[in-house]
Amino acid sequence: MSAATATKARTVKPPQVKPQQPLFIGGRWLDSVSGKTFPTVNPATGEAICQVAEGDKADVDLAVKAARKAFEDGPWPRMSASERGRVLNRLADLVEQHKEELAALESLDNGKPYRDAIAADLPLTIKCYRYYAGWTDKIHGKTIPVDGPYFCYTKHEPVGVVGQIIPWNFPLLMQAWKWGPALATGCTVVLKPAEQTPLTALRLGELICEAGFPDGVINIVTGFGETAGAGLAAHSQVDKIAFTGSTEVGKLILQAAAGNLKKVSLELGGKSPNIVCADADLEVAIPGAASAIFFNHGQCCCAGSRLYVEKKVFDKVLDGVSEQAKRIKVGSGMDPGTEMGPLVSAEQFQRVNSYLESGRSQGAKTVVGGQRAGSKGYFVEPTVLVDVKPDMKVVKEEIFGPVVVAMPVSDMNEVQAAANETTYGLAAGIWTNDIAKAHTLASQLRAGTVWINCYNIFDAALPFGGYKESGWGREMGHDVLELYTETKAVCVKL
Ligand code: ADP
Repeated sequence: MSAATATKARTVKPPQVKPQQPLFIGGRWLDSVSGKTFPTVNPATGEAICQVAEGDKADVDLAVKAARKAFEDGPWPRMSASERGRVLNRLADLVEQHKEELAALESLDNGKPYRDAIAADLPLTIKCYRYYAGWTDKIHGKTIPVDGPYFCYTKHEPVGVVGQIIPWNFPLLMQAWKWGPALATGCTVVLKPAEQTPLTALRLGELICEAGFPDGVINIVTGFGETAGAGLAAHSQVDKIAFTGSTEVGKLILQAAAGNLKKVSLELGGKSPNIVCADADLEVAIPGAASAIFFNHGQCCCAGSRLYVEKKVFDKVLDGVSEQAKRIKVGSGMDPGTEMGPLVSAEQFQRVNSYLESGRSQGAKTVVGGQRAGSKGYFVEPTVLVDVKPDMKVVKEEIFGPVVVAMPVSDMNEVQAAANETTYGLAAGIWTNDIAKAHTLASQLRAGTVWINCYNIFDAALPFGGYKESGWGREMGHDVLELYTETKAVCVKL
């Protein structure tokens, strides 16, 4: 789904936001144990939207105990699988009924255009819950022939209490990627939303009460990574931790998880190559390459941030992508005409600007953009850089902003080597009309997803995750169910 395909809304109704937002633990709304709160900020203005409970280790402990009780004694893991599916489907229906409100809340808290939230985040979120509702009664084992007079079979049982830590770039969708498989398999959950974007997670807490989830099945602890997040990753009563975020924090999660050897799945960063071959349909490839980096302001772990273009068409593609960048309408996400909103936070704004500065100081040339947009809020112009070298920071490191580096390449051997010259391996794009070249390159690229003549296409049925330092395990599709279940082998003497 791309900004280009997003639909236009006429007006955006501002969402109602309660001034104080508590934690959701054991089916109850609670203040944090410390009584502390923190503001969540509208990134278009830099002003606080409301105060959110600041959960830390003590609140995580309460939430884990509630999830443990719901897992050990509650009805959730014991109810029939199809009944669990019905509850999950009710959640999907409720999200659908409230989709305009949720899209507006997401836009307000995250900064993303309402038109993208309503066209991409919400439909993908709803589909994800429905998809996993459908899996509940289709998770089964095998009978296995072994030597001797034994009847053997396997069962797939819920892994237990799952801690889930999500980022701020697609808050509702990342929550659905995590909750969908956890709930389908009968696990219970403690979610730690990103401190920058807690509001839609908390609103979903209200909807899960309405959907009829038993108390303690889902718990939501808002707070900061170093306290609440770290407490969850280290907790000895958590059986599995699922994390989406930076590679740097992913490594900390691994260390924290070592104490009780909880299962770990990680969906981390990327610096994804997007390759335009000379034989591609440039009418499609140029807007495709622009959308690959500028969708969601480049705040996508799979953003097509390294653009490799065959020399013959480099100037044409560069001009085309730069022209697209210039035309993007930057403004408040709540304005229905906006195509790119502010970056999510002051910290992210600083980070992207420091990469722009590093690019300039290391000799990169800015073709378009490169500056702050406007005078308040965290807006950065869509930016195209050229004259870059493989060892520059802007080429090697994940910027997580609307910044693409464009590089000419001579042939497919060169591009394959350059594309794989990264510690990441999340995604890649290929634009070509040569079917053999497309599939050859697709198999040569060390990336978890390869898009051919498209980019940023997601579906709940399609596994997503990374090679190398982009992560461990796959989310979505059937693959993720393995991460939320334990296989039990049962052996009967005949
Ligand atoms: P980003 O750099 O995109 O903000 P992070 O990896 O810092 O991504 O954050 C993603 C999620 O991880 C957020 O919910 C954040 O609060 C959480 N987090 C950050 N640091 C830690 C940590 N040390 N332990 C556990 N969770 C953390």
